[in-house]
Formats: sequence, structure tokens, C-alpha cells
Amino acid sequence: MKDLLKDPTLLRTQAYINGEWVDSDSGETFPVLNPATQEVLVEVASVAGAETRRAIEAAEVAQKAWAAKSAMERSAVLKKWNDLILENVEDLAVIMTLEQGKVLAESRGEIVYAASFIEWFAEEGKRVYGDVFPLPQGTSRGIAIKQPVGVVAAVTPWNFPSAMLTRKCGPALAVGCAMVAKPAHETPLSMLALAELADRAGLPAGLLSIVPGAHAAPIGDELCSNPIVRKFTFTGSTRIGKYLAAKCTETMKRTSMELGGNAPVIVFDDADLDKAAAGAAASKYRNSGQTCICANRILVQEGVYDEFVEKLKGVVGTFKVGDGMDETSTHGPVITRKALEDIKSMVDDAVAHGAEVAAGGSFGEEGEQFIQPTILCNVTEDMRVFREEIFGPVAPIFKFKTEEEAIAMANDTEFGLAAYLFTKDQGRTWRVSEGIEYGMVGVNEVAISSTFIPFGGVKESGQGREGSSYGVDDYLEIKYICIGDLGAD
Ligand code: NAP
Repeated sequence: MKDLLKDPTLLRTQAYINGEWVDSDSGETFPVLNPATQEVLVEVASVAGAETRRAIEAAEVAQKAWAAKSAMERSAVLKKWNDLILENVEDLAVIMTLEQGKVLAESRGEIVYAASFIEWFAEEGKRVYGDVFPLPQGTSRGIAIKQPVGVVAAVTPWNFPSAMLTRKCGPALAVGCAMVAKPAHETPLSMLALAELADRAGLPAGLLSIVPGAHAAPIGDELCSNPIVRKFTFTGSTRIGKYLAAKCTETMKRTSMELGGNAPVIVFDDADLDKAAAGAAASKYRNSGQTCICANRILVQEGVYDEFVEKLKGVVGTFKVGDGMDETSTHGPVITRKALEDIKSMVDDAVAHGAEVAAGGSFGEEGEQFIQPTILCNVTEDMRVFREEIFGPVAPIFKFKTEEEAIAMANDTEFGLAAYLFTKDQGRTWRVSEGIEYGMVGVNEVAISSTFIPFGGVKESGQGREGSSYGVDDYLEIKYICIGDLGAD
């Protein structure tokens, strides 16, 4: 793997704790696999509770000194880190494609997106303002100041191995917190490479430690129960998020949860169908369907259903599934063989209940973990593809008659992360955007994510917002100070 990198020292396979690269106490390692070929890329140190505890204790010490620095000083280090990430986009993208599977173009895009959170919050950290307000007694004044919450623990998933770290540690570090982060076991290398660049940028030891491991539970137990950790931020499945959030209540940690989705794309009969088909395809098949804001259910008004399906088939026909390292591939493999089996079982369920495979439908033919982008028609709300997050390149296309029915179908889920609608009607744009229960809505647009926006969900898709000027709030405590005895001499 090293020979594919211009700078082989970006390939780090040890844990990064208190500014040092270390093996696990037990000497245990775990393999990182290439999802395109199932080859073992490298072995990575597998830490457990004791090493995690040391990382947390180091963070406690480092955080105090970091918080005492000015926002300008913290910003300067973060900007250096941002620059180094951007200087190394190509190597970081190769590392990501090899361990995650997404095609190189998408990996490059994610690295630039990841860096943008560091750059954005390096600026935003300078604008943490407080308030002065009157009090009932005229001789006193109230002041609200904002202070860093302290030591933050982060757990991230494999589908965005770099951006899910920087969207959390960007604001945390900018406002004076320290962080201990656990990557997904499938994709530790991207996070470790970012830590190497943070080290080179001069981020003081202990402020960002990375604890990779084959076994999530002992690391998670320590992160969620150690009283030094004041905030826990998680991106991953709703099932694991609920479990970890419950653990955090024992020490009353603040939590942010970015969880699963079941995004509807609603196509009305007044929509530009070419744009709707291109948008639905971009949203559905990005990262081979493995993003939390991927279209999961495509709802199309009955009068344009057949035409829309034909247009979507046209877009899907231009895709080329293959190894992400091949620049001609447009879509890579799914993350594991188990993921492929799970996705296949949802398609089998739909077909057994009467769905028709209008495109794709081949599983494991181009290689163990490759799925042809698939379209399912004649789908109904009792099928698993309506209720569950598919997390793969399968687009079920449902039919609806009226606007009210579309809103009801969109809301008929416990999830509420992202939703999309295609319409040219301004009144409908407002009615539907306000009527659906989602944290984010794209109207005639599926590229909704950037540093500028408050990313997050409602219902069981989570709590808290990441990115934008709101993104620092989750890492700040408000302290009220009463200044009294201000009467005349
Ligand atoms: P997952 O199984 O929940 O895993 C996410 C992370 O949790 C991984 O690092 C995993 O570690 C860790 N984990 C699992 N059990 C743990 C425990 N007991 N203690 C501590 N950590 C534990 O989710 P996934 O399959 O990797 O990711 C896909 C999910 O993430 C989807 O539902 C997707 O919608 C969601 N997601 C949401 C957003 C958002 O912003 N809302 C963004 C991206 C993804 P191991 O890998 O070591 O098991």
C-alpha cells in the first residue's frame, strides 16, 4: 500500500495517544481490508479500555492549556492543519479509496470537504460571543459567557472516514475542547493520516487522540462512562447511537447524535423530470448508496411515474461499477460482504412481494462486494425497502396520487434526516417543506451538504447540528455571571 503514496509516512498503523504513535498494550492488531479485492491492506493496533483511559486523561491536561490560548492562536494551528490536508489530497484520497471503496473522485471530494470544516471553524472559533442583559434588581447586570465543554469523545462510521472526524473536531478544537476519537474498524487509516497531519501542523500533544480497535465495546464503554469526558458525539446507526446515548446518561454527558436516515425524494408531476432523475440518481447512488442522506424511497406522482422510471434508467445506464482505484469507475463496492447480503435480502423481500427489477439486480458478479445500481418498480409500503435504511445502490420507486399522500408517505418513518422534493410550484415548495418532518430539505437540489449548513436530523435520526455557525454550539457551555452592587457611590 505504501508504494501507492507519494508520502508513505501518511500511512499510520499505530494508535495516536497523547501525541505519540503507540502499539496496543496487548500487542493485538486487526486487519484493514480493501472492499474491492478483500486483500488485507495493513494491520492496525487494536486498543482497549486502558489505552482509551490514558488518552482521556491526557486530553484533560492538554485541554486546559489549549482553552487558555486565544482563539487566534488556536485558529492558526487549525489553518496550518487545513493547508496540510489540502496539500496531501491525493495521498489521503488513495488511502480512503483503498480502505473504504469509494471511487477516487469521491474520495478527493471528501478530503476537500473534510478540510473545509477545519478551515470554517478556525474562523468561527473567533466569533464565540456572549451577552449582557438586565436583571430584576437595577443594581446588578447579568452576563452570559460561552466556555468550551472540555474533553469530548467522538465515534464515527466508515462511510465518511475523514469528514465525520473533522465535522466534529473542527468546532471542538476551535473553541478550546480536546477530543478522543474512535474510527470505525473498517476505515481507521484515513483518521490516523489526518492525525499525522495535525501533529505536523503543531497541534499540541493530547488534544486529539485516535483510538482504533477491533472491539468497539471496551473503547465505547470507557468513552461513555469516564467522568472526565463531558460530551459524547456520535455518527452511526440509530441502534448503536441509542445504546451509547443511554450509557452517557450515567454521567450526564451532553450528547450529539447523527444517526440513520430514510430519505424520501418526492417527484411531483410539475417537476423538471430530467433534473429530478439526475438528482435522484446522484443522491441514491453516491458512495454506492452508503450515505445517511442518500435517497432511500423515491416517491413519484402517478401521472409521470413511467416517464420518470425511463429517465432514471437512462442515467443509471451510464454508470460503470468497478474498483474505486480505476479512474473510469463511477461506483465502487459496498463496504463488506455482509452489507451486500443485507442489501440483497431487502431486494429479495421486495421481489417476493411483487416488486419488479427495472434495472441492475446483480449482486457479487463483478466481484465479491459489487452491486449493479438497481431500480425497483411496483414497490409498496409493506416492503422492507420502504421501512428500512437500504444503505446500498437500490432505488425503490413508489407511486402517489396527491400532495397530502406524498407528505404522509414521507413522514411514515421513525427517521427524519434529509428529504428532497422536485416541483416548480412555489406554494407547494413551502407547504411540503414545512409539512415533512425532516432536519434538512432539498428543493430541486440534492447537493445539500456543505460546511455552510446546519447538518442534522429530527425524530430517531438524532439530535444536534454539525457545520455552519450553529456547529460550535454543541461544544460550548453557557455560564451566567451576575455582577452585583453596581449602585451609586
Ligand atoms: P454503526 O454500526 O453504528 O457504527 C458506527 C460507529 O460506532 C463505528 O465506529 C463502530 O465501531 C461504533 N460502535 C459500534 N458499537 C459500539 C460500541 N459498543 N461502543 C462504541 N462504539 C461502537 O454504523 P455504521 O454501519 O458504521 O455506519 C452507518 C450508519 O451511520 C448508517 O445508519 C448511517 O445512516 C449513519 N450515518 C449517519 C450520518 C449522519 O450525519 N446522520 C452520517 C454518516 C452515517 P466498529 O466499526 O469498530 O464496530
